[in-house]
Amino acid sequence: MANKIKKGDTVVVLRGKEKGKVGEVLRVIREENRVVVKGINLVKKHLREIPNVREGGIYEIEAPIHVSNVMLLCPKCEKPTRVGIRTVIEKDNLRKYRFCKKCNENIDLIREKVIKVRAER
Ligand SMILES: [Zn+2]
Repeated sequence: MANKIKKGDTVVVLRGKEKGKVGEVLRVIREENRVVVKGINLVKKHLREIPNVREGGIYEIEAPIHVSNVMLLCPKCEKPTRVGIRTVIEKDNLRKYRFCKKCNENIDLIREKVIKVRAER
């Protein structure tokens, strides 16, 4: 499955006790199809002291949640949406965009490749 959620995205939680909450994606764990979302799924964890970095103690940190439990909040129409990927040829570039399946706007460019155009004889 192509990873359609990226670090920095704003997502809304679809299921569980935090349904409806919105947060920024801090990390994507691709192998597990999980994401870490700021302020979501907080768990208490006892962390050791790291000198000059942090004190030991109990911290609340975000535990990863499955990517199927969140949906991208479209930056264009501001609605929760599924993400599509489309390939467009623009000038001499093959460009892949993520797009919003609600408003059909491109969200961002994810890949770009220059197409070599051979001159015809
Ligand atoms: Zn949209």
